[in-house]
Amino acid sequence: MQYPIGDSHVHPDFSVDAKGSIREYCKRAFDMGLFEITFTTHYEILPERKDRMGFFTIDGLKVPAGPDTVKRYVEEVRAVGEEFFPAGLKVGCGLEVGWDRTLYDRLAKELESFDLDFVIGSIHDVCDTPILEREFSPAFFANHPIDYWIGDYFKRAEEIAESELFDVLGHFDCYKRYGQAAYGEAIKTAHEPYLDNLFDKMKKHRLFLELNTAGIRHGVGEYYPSMAIINAARRAGVRVSALGSDAHNPDQLAFDFENAAQLVHELLPCGPEDEYEQ
Ligand SMILES: [Zn+2]
Ligand SMILES: [Zn+2]
Repeated sequence: MQYPIGDSHVHPDFSVDAKGSIREYCKRAFDMGLFEITFTTHYEILPERKDRMGFFTIDGLKVPAGPDTVKRYVEEVRAVGEEFFPAGLKVGCGLEVGWDRTLYDRLAKELESFDLDFVIGSIHDVCDTPILEREFSPAFFANHPIDYWIGDYFKRAEEIAESELFDVLGHFDCYKRYGQAAYGEAIKTAHEPYLDNLFDKMKKHRLFLELNTAGIRHGVGEYYPSMAIINAARRAGVRVSALGSDAHNPDQLAFDFENAAQLVHELLPCGPEDEYEQ
């Protein structure tokens, strides 16, 4: 690493779609010279997602996601974190929550009670369809124009800001992962009419952006979000506050950070002040 950097979006094997124990990830983070690793296992509690992502893996068993599974996960992150802290690796504990406004009351109560350092709000469903799953997404995009769903995507992003439950908006513009094939270049500018409103709300409610490098390993050819969106955000006074790989196995930890780290000057010790504080 050119300078100290942390990975703030990491799925350990508590996530049903991920491999690698908390300890394996920490070992790898330490070996790579990261100064921090923040685990953000999936917390999917929308009833409709129950049969697919609404679980944690605990001791090799699939257990429905809920406060007890989070407690168990937090305990393990904290215990392993204690082992690595003296060696110089800071281990953070967070969640990545799939947003739906019907979850607000439950999340407000639960997130308050969990011992977390960091919470990512992500949009995984639009118009009641999981838009990041190969099983559903390509067919949905092939059968609907962008205008059919893009308004709902941005409405959800605004709700994430207004909820004030989250630290960052996760993998923003990830709809391009499966959307590129259906819509070509049009997907790259679909955000334009919606950005100003969203950035106003993000500023007002102190929600930041993450720069998520998974787009590169997904073959999209750029990060989530695109540099066009990052630059528009910066101009609007919304900054990047986290760099995440969205690793689902330890090999993906800090993926492409040697390039991404150049782009997130806000995260450097000498970077600009938090503009929201002024
Ligand atoms: Zn996600
Ligand atoms: Zn993730």
